[in-house]
Amino acid sequence: MRDGECGAVTERTLELFRDDAYMRNCEAEVIEVNERGGIVLDKTVFYATGGGQPGDVGSVGLASGEISIGATIRVGGDIVHVPFENQPAPPPGGEVTATIDWENRHLLMRMHTATHLLCSVVPCGVTGGSVGPTKSRIDFDLADHILDKKHLNEEINRLIDENHNVETIWISREEFDAQPQLARTMTVKPPADAQRIRLVKIGEDVDIQSCGGTHVLSTGEIGRLRVGKIENKGARNRRVNIHLEE
Ligand SMILES: [Zn+2]
Repeated sequence: MRDGECGAVTERTLELFRDDAYMRNCEAEVIEVNERGGIVLDKTVFYATGGGQPGDVGSVGLASGEISIGATIRVGGDIVHVPFENQPAPPPGGEVTATIDWENRHLLMRMHTATHLLCSVVPCGVTGGSVGPTKSRIDFDLADHILDKKHLNEEINRLIDENHNVETIWISREEFDAQPQLARTMTVKPPADAQRIRLVKIGEDVDIQSCGGTHVLSTGEIGRLRVGKIENKGARNRRVNIHLEE
């Protein structure tokens, strides 16, 4: 989804998931283990919590065994792999294999892509959102637009059936600044200092917006969706919930 980190590359970690969301593991070197046990690697396939998408869970494998990772977060400029308690720390400089929980990630990729489709069928400002493995939501500022749940359901599932390509495109800061409509979320924008901005484009004209999250390669991969509750969040604001059917 819309990600405050669009285009950002952490200073010390190569973010492999930005260009290939389907990478499940990678070899990496341990750069640092912080005082709370958080592990910083020179490269990673782990997405860190941001832009409404939860960070990955998984493992960091050493020659002597595996460390289970319960969360991935950003601290300062770093992506930090946070282990569950009472596990051994890897030695700085050591070689490890970082492996995400693919089942969980793939659900998040399907759901995250679905939130873009929801944005495309509701022609209103986005004020917030959250992606979960089977349930997600987007908050809209409707102004005087009226939402019809049955229509949303049909439109989203039609876009899934049409199996549109989902592409990642990088553009310059100048190109991005000239097209303010590319930042769909009113409250989240790419960092002011990002020189390259990542766009996610669906089909020829289904949706295009700046986003740093992980997505599937075509909308057919999302599977069947159901529009759930539409919650009233004030005079102009509505929260639309969507669910994966399988
Ligand atoms: Zn996205």
